[in-house]
Amino acid sequence: MVRLSSPVNKLDGVGIKKARALSTLGIKTIWDLLTYFPMRYNDFRIQNPAEAPNNAKITIQGKLIQGPYINYRTSRLKFRLQVNQDRIWVAFFHRAYLMKKLHKGQTITVYGRLELEYHTLQGTALLDSQDRQLVKAVYPSNRHISKKNIRKIIAKAYSQCHNLIHDYLPSWVKRKYRLEPEQEVIHNMHFPSSVRNEQLARRTAIFNDFFLYQMKLQSIRFKNKKNRGAQIKPNYALLGKFMGGLPFSLTAAQRKCTGEIIHDMEAPIEMNRLLQGDVGSGKTIVAAIAIYAAVTSGYQTAIMVPTSVLAEQHAKSLSKTFKGFGVNIGLLTSDLSILAKRNLLRHIANGDIDLVIGTDALIQSDIKYHRLGLAVIDEQHRFGVDQRQALRVKGSNPNMLGMTATPIPRTLAITAYGDMDVSVINQLPSGRKPVKTTWMRLKEVHSHLSQLKKIIDSGQQMYVVAPLVKQSQGAKGMLDAETIYRTFEYYFPQYKIGLLHGQMDDDKKDEIMTRFKAGRYQILVATTVIEVGVDVANASMMMIFNADHFGLSQLHQLRGRVGRGSQQAYCWLIADPKSKDGKKRMRIMESTTNGFKISQADLKLRGTGDIFGQAQSGIPKFKVGNPINNAVILECAQQEAARVVSQAQWQKQPQNQNLVARLKLQKDIKMLD
Ligand code: ADP
Ligand code: MG
Repeated sequence: MVRLSSPVNKLDGVGIKKARALSTLGIKTIWDLLTYFPMRYNDFRIQNPAEAPNNAKITIQGKLIQGPYINYRTSRLKFRLQVNQDRIWVAFFHRAYLMKKLHKGQTITVYGRLELEYHTLQGTALLDSQDRQLVKAVYPSNRHISKKNIRKIIAKAYSQCHNLIHDYLPSWVKRKYRLEPEQEVIHNMHFPSSVRNEQLARRTAIFNDFFLYQMKLQSIRFKNKKNRGAQIKPNYALLGKFMGGLPFSLTAAQRKCTGEIIHDMEAPIEMNRLLQGDVGSGKTIVAAIAIYAAVTSGYQTAIMVPTSVLAEQHAKSLSKTFKGFGVNIGLLTSDLSILAKRNLLRHIANGDIDLVIGTDALIQSDIKYHRLGLAVIDEQHRFGVDQRQALRVKGSNPNMLGMTATPIPRTLAITAYGDMDVSVINQLPSGRKPVKTTWMRLKEVHSHLSQLKKIIDSGQQMYVVAPLVKQSQGAKGMLDAETIYRTFEYYFPQYKIGLLHGQMDDDKKDEIMTRFKAGRYQILVATTVIEVGVDVANASMMMIFNADHFGLSQLHQLRGRVGRGSQQAYCWLIADPKSKDGKKRMRIMESTTNGFKISQADLKLRGTGDIFGQAQSGIPKFKVGNPINNAVILECAQQEAARVVSQAQWQKQPQNQNLVARLKLQKDIKMLD
C-alpha cells in the first residue's frame, strides 16, 4: 500500500534512479515531493504588450504577418506578429527547427521577454494554443534532475496520491482563517489555474508551515509548564550574604530579572525562561545568583556555552565570584584528556561538582548529572531548540535559563523562543560610555596610529579582529589574523602582542586568553572566537579588519567586547565596501550602539536568513513562510497551536488524529510525547 510516507519510488513510473536524483534535493518520501513547492511561476496568460512593463516576461498572441526569417550564421530566427494595434518582432536563438512550424497568417502564442526599445519579444517558448496550463510552476532543480522532470514527477504523485491528502488543521482553525482544503492547497501550489488561485493556496501553505513548527514549540512549552520540576528552596541567609559581597550593586533591571527567575525556580513546576539583555548589560551575574540559589538548595547546576574560550572564561570568573561560598566548579570541554574527563564525569555523577561549565559536551550521552536543578544556556541564539531540549532531558526537569544579547523583533522571538517566558535587562550598568566608533578605509589607518599608541601607552588593551585565520586562496582582499599579527609585530616592536584563533587547541586558547586578561599582552590579534561573551574590562580599543564582511549583529557583538569598564572605549571599523549597502552598514555602526536598532537594520538589509551570521540563529528555514513578511500569520498560528496543545490529551482525541499523523510526516519536527 502506498502512503504519503512511502519512498518516492513507490510511485508508478519512478524508479530507483529518479529516486536517487530526487534525494539530492532532499526529497525522499511522496509527502516530501508533494510539499516541494515551486520557487516561482511562469505566467502564460495572454497579455497585451502595450500594457506590459519593459523587460517583463509575458505571453502574447497575434497573427504572423512577416517571416519567418532565419540567419544561420547567428542562428537567429525571427518573425513579426500583429498584436492588436502593435507590430512586434519575435526572436529565437538556436531554434531553427521552429521554421517548419511557422506560416504566414497563422495565429501564434509565444512566451518571452519584452524588449520595448526594440519592439521585440525575446522568445523562450512557442506555446500550443490549445490545452496549456496558464500558470506553470518552476522548481528549484540541480544537475541531477531537471525542472521539467520534477514537475512531471510531482504531477504523477498528485494524481496517484491526492486521495491520501487529508485536512489536518482543526476545523475551527480552518473556518476562523478561511483556509483552503489541503488537497486544493497542494494542487494549487503546483498547478494553479490562475495567480489568484495560487495566492490563496500559498496563504494556507504559509499558515501550515508556521502552525506545524509552533505545534512543536508550544507542545514543548506546555509540557514543560506541567512538569513538576526541580523545586528550589534557596537558603536566603546565604544568598543575601553572597549578593551583599558583590563588587557592585545590581542595576534595577538586573534586580527585577533576578526576582523573576528566583520566583520561577521556587515554584514546583520547572522554569523555562529567557534572559535577554544587550551586550554588557550584565547577564552573567544574574545567572550566578540563580546558580547560587540552586546550590544552596542542594541542587547541581550547569552552564552550556557555544565556545571553549567562553567556557574557560566563565569557569575562571565564576570561581572568583563564588570564592569562599563553597561552589565546586567543573569545566567540561571536548579537549579534555580521556582520563581527566572520566574523572570529571564521576564527580559530576556523584554530586561532588555543584556547577558544570562546558560546551555542547554537556549534552553528550556519557554524561550523567546528579540532581540537576538549573541549566543555564549562555548565548542561547547559538543553540537550537533540540539542543536545549537535550540538556533538559539530561536532568529530571531542571529549571532552564537561556541568555541572549540578540534583541530580535517580536515575530522572530516567537519563532526562535516561542516556548519560553522572557525577562529583559533593559539598561546598562551606570558609568558606561558608549563605544566611539569610526569607520575608516585601510589606507587611512596609518594616520590614526598615534591615537592608537596613546591609548595603549595609557595602560589599556586592544583587540584586533580579522575575518580569516590564514591567508587562503579564493578570499581576495580579505585579511587574516596571522598576517596582521606579523604586521603589528613589525610596526609595534615595543608592545607585547598575542595571537588567538579557532584552530588552536583549547589549552592554547586558554593560555593566551589568560595572558591577555592578566595584561601580559597589550594587543590581542584574533578571529571571531572572541565574538561572544569574552569579558576583559581593561580592553578599551578594538580594530576590526574587513568589517564589511561581518553581519551587523556580529559587529555589535564584537564591539561589545570593549567598553565594559568605565573608561572611554573605541572601535575602528576598517573597510573598503564597494556597494551602497556596505557603506550604509558601516554608517549604521558608527551612528548607534543600540543592539535593537542594529538588529532591525540588519534584518532590513539582509533578510531573516542571515541575521545572526550563519545557520546559528535557532530560527528554522520554512518552506514557504517568512517570519518577517508574514508576521501576522505567524502570530495567529502561534496562538492556535498553543490552544490545541493546551487541550487535555489532544494527541488522543479523534478529531486530532490527522494532525498527529501530519506531524509525524514532518522530518524536521520531532514530536515529544
Ligand atoms: P553580558 O550581559 O554581555 O553577558 P556580562 O555579564 O559579561 O555581560 O557583564 C559585563 C561586565 O559588566 C562584567 O565585567 C560584569 O562584571 C560587569 N557588571 C555586571 N553587572 C554590573 C553592575 N550592576 N554594575 C557594574 N558592573 C557590572
Ligand atoms: Mg555574556
